[in-house]
Amino acid sequence: MPELPDVETFKCYLDATSLHQRIDDVEVRNAYVLKDVSARELARRLKGHRFESSRRHGKHLFVHANEDLWLRLHFGMTGSLRYFGNAEQAPTHTRVLFIFTNNHRLAFDDQRQFGQIGLLKDVDEFLKERALGPDALDLDLGGFQKILGKRRGAVKSILMNQRLIAGIGNIYADEILFRARIHPAIEISRLSSKALTKLFRAMRYILEKAIAAKADVNQMPKSWLLPHRGKGGKCPRCGRELKSSKIGGRTAWFCAHCQRRL
Ligand SMILES: [Zn+2]
Repeated sequence: MPELPDVETFKCYLDATSLHQRIDDVEVRNAYVLKDVSARELARRLKGHRFESSRRHGKHLFVHANEDLWLRLHFGMTGSLRYFGNAEQAPTHTRVLFIFTNNHRLAFDDQRQFGQIGLLKDVDEFLKERALGPDALDLDLGGFQKILGKRRGAVKSILMNQRLIAGIGNIYADEILFRARIHPAIEISRLSSKALTKLFRAMRYILEKAIAAKADVNQMPKSWLLPHRGKGGKCPRCGRELKSSKIGGRTAWFCAHCQRRL
């Protein structure tokens, strides 16, 4: 499921391939992804414009097309982007194709169909309506402590709550907690200010490193949880078998030895 580092990677990819080219047409192959816009309207409003810049907030990507027109992309569980020249190279699960006048295309590919595409006028307005918290990478330590300091609940659920901090999902919450050596089910109000500082530093470190690795698990350090998480996986730090449990409706992976429950 695409989280902040994945969406940042899509942003860099879109910026490197698809900006400043005239949009000739938009082909909707599967309208389920469209939110509050019809296939016809999407094409009509984008045709003749260019994508000029993009902006990411949490797991959302916004692409600026003209003064008060933004394309909104959310990648759901399996969404991704692919830019290509030959029409036959369209990925298998292409749902929407942006066709440029240079005859290259940008495909929104999404096997599981939980992705979303929409149009909006004002990004800040949208973020407010959705009540999304600040982007995880825009926060400084003071802001982080302020948001988390007064909360109640399992630390992992708090990290994944998009209304508090936007961008972190199941995979990276586990990775951040593993690095900070904090058990995912610990009640956040029991964390000392020192532990919160450690958690903040781990969050920045993991998200930045994951972006540098283009969110590709094969490029991530073997000392991380990600290459080992799953049944039978061993903790890369102490070698003990990793454990899993349901926290906030999602499966958490952790090492019960390295991440003690205080
Ligand atoms: Zn361990």
